[in-house]
Amino acid sequence: HAPIHIIGGGLAGSEAAWQAANAGIPVILHEMRGVRGTDAHHTDGLAELVCSNSFRSDDAQSNAVGLIHAEMRRANSLIMACADANQVPAGGALAVDRVAFSQAVTQKLEEHPLVNIVREEITGLPPEAWDQAIIASGPLTAPGLAEAIRSATGADALAFFDAIAPIVHTESIDMDICWFQSRYDKVGPGGTGKDYINCPMDKDQYLAFVQALIDGEKTEFREWEGTPYFDGCLPIEIMAERGVETLRHGPMKPMGLTNAHNPTVKAYAVVQLRQDNALGTLYNMVGFQTKLKYAEQKRIFRMIPGLENAEFARLGGLHRNTYINSPTLLDTSLQLKSRKGLRFAGQITGCEGYVESASVGLMAGRFAAAARLGKDLAPPPVTTAMGALLNHITGGHIISHEEPGKRSFQPMNVNFGLFPPVEIPREEGKRLRGKEKTTAKKHALTARALVDFDAWIAQQQ
Ligand code: FAD
Repeated sequence: HAPIHIIGGGLAGSEAAWQAANAGIPVILHEMRGVRGTDAHHTDGLAELVCSNSFRSDDAQSNAVGLIHAEMRRANSLIMACADANQVPAGGALAVDRVAFSQAVTQKLEEHPLVNIVREEITGLPPEAWDQAIIASGPLTAPGLAEAIRSATGADALAFFDAIAPIVHTESIDMDICWFQSRYDKVGPGGTGKDYINCPMDKDQYLAFVQALIDGEKTEFREWEGTPYFDGCLPIEIMAERGVETLRHGPMKPMGLTNAHNPTVKAYAVVQLRQDNALGTLYNMVGFQTKLKYAEQKRIFRMIPGLENAEFARLGGLHRNTYINSPTLLDTSLQLKSRKGLRFAGQITGCEGYVESASVGLMAGRFAAAARLGKDLAPPPVTTAMGALLNHITGGHIISHEEPGKRSFQPMNVNFGLFPPVEIPREEGKRLRGKEKTTAKKHALTARALVDFDAWIAQQQ
């Protein structure tokens, strides 16, 4: 077979390469890092995680991202296999040692006999001779390629801000003030119920901290003025500006945590840090993405009790994030309507998140391989997490009444709102109330998803 060309060896491109190669099709993976970097990546490794080290909830029964984990594992996902093999404890979440994870992905692809990794920047659209190609160049697509995509699609460039959170050296955290505990002592895979480091604040400390965030000097991004923020990843100082209580109800909520040094006094607010590497020498500040100037970050974050002497391995920052208007541009197999054989995958399609990007890569790899083999591959059913996400992106089998393209297209994490509703048995529905009913519905949704996903996989064998 002639090869499939994949541009970008990030979360989506690596998974797409793995899936296509395992279907027996040779892959040429073009990755520019090694020749040219991006504003957020620090290494040359494939599938580098640019910010948090978390793949979020691993609960496949009542969480949509946990469900996508389960579906990907059933589809022999490289990203999930390497994540599982390089886990660090993180309560109910699946978090990884980012360096070991990226090295594992790189090694698996380097060793695959059908994958050829070429370190080069692709500066325009793939040449016509690449009749099967996938663009998976991510939110930080290099300018040459971004410009070519923009002129080929004719659509306005869409963009929003994305921010990253600081990482702290564990030994610089004062454990006479902080304590280890997962919220509600939750024990997840490889966890102990004591996976986070917690920093307590009383009311005065909290109010002073919120004020400092509001007053702190921010980096100006004049050229991007008017670009919206992604709501799931707001900078901490923007949340502070929204109201004095916002942080206490968001990333700094004190619920489910008891100060081990002072169990009888309830903290007014709590800053949590999550383990960032297998050794446990680094912890990242959960929800603390920021565009404060570097010096200000150090000054203000050292106001947090227990972080007075914190040493930062990396400070937070803000980046532009580019994506295409997929509902108008792509068909249900992620193919550009105006050029068959050219697919898009990953965050550039308008999904949001590591796992989502990888799952779209998984689908694109399978679609491209099927096309090369002359087979028809239907998208995963919309009742599955991957199908629901694909449906959001391509608008191919819209559940809502809005028309594709007419709705305002915003990047989206996978969530139960994207699934068609499920009925729970009448008797059960009558018996259950409130939260129990919601839980029963989630369980029914995820059970239905896995049955339908298995059928989608089986039909490809
Ligand atoms: P990437 O993983 O970025 O991969 C794209 C690859 O393409 C890169 O390796 C790049 O070097 C390469 N490339 C680009 N242009 C070219 C070219 N012209 N030629 C050859 N190669 C090229 N998601 C989360 O779940 N959690 C987070 O904490 C999180 N934080 C984020 C922080 C920032 C600053 C940004 C920008 C995004 C963040 N995301 C986060 C969102 C998203 O999940 C990640 O960006 C994810 O890596 C997207 O996967 P991808 O494969 O689409 O792109």
